[in-house]
Amino acid sequence: MQGNTHIVGGITASLAFAQISNDNPLVLVGAGVIGALLPDICHGGSKIGRKFPIISKIVNTMFGHRSFTHSLLFLFLIGMLLHTFIPYESISLGILLGIASHIFLDMCTKKGVKLFFPVSISVRLPLTTKTGSKTEKVVFMLLTMLSVFFSYEIIFKLIETL
Ligand SMILES: [Zn+2]
Repeated sequence: MQGNTHIVGGITASLAFAQISNDNPLVLVGAGVIGALLPDICHGGSKIGRKFPIISKIVNTMFGHRSFTHSLLFLFLIGMLLHTFIPYESISLGILLGIASHIFLDMCTKKGVKLFFPVSISVRLPLTTKTGSKTEKVVFMLLTMLSVFFSYEIIFKLIETL
């Protein structure tokens, strides 16, 4: 999936989570967007890969595309790192939600992801689409609509507490 789809995917996941948590929704969303871009560090042409070309090159050479950084192991390791170094739980949660949303969206592509890295099987959902296809645009639109919907819910919740 393309960067923009991942961004809106991260926003949707964070806002959905914000409905049921007491974390600051803005912090969740900000961290969610960062998390949603993070896994594609394995790909030099991605938004984050272009920002950090050297790290991207190293990760790509070591693991290839959509493997380690798209796995449960990566999610777990980042979770441990955040737990150790970041004292703000909302930031950590947002980043993890973003990564999870990224992996999920890439599971909707034909190529799938190496979810159980270092086991090299590719995992994908029964319904898949190609990156950059018309279907991806529809997914993008649906996610945008969902985010707007969740935002309204949160804004109304905020107004009620005033
Ligand atoms: Zn990806």
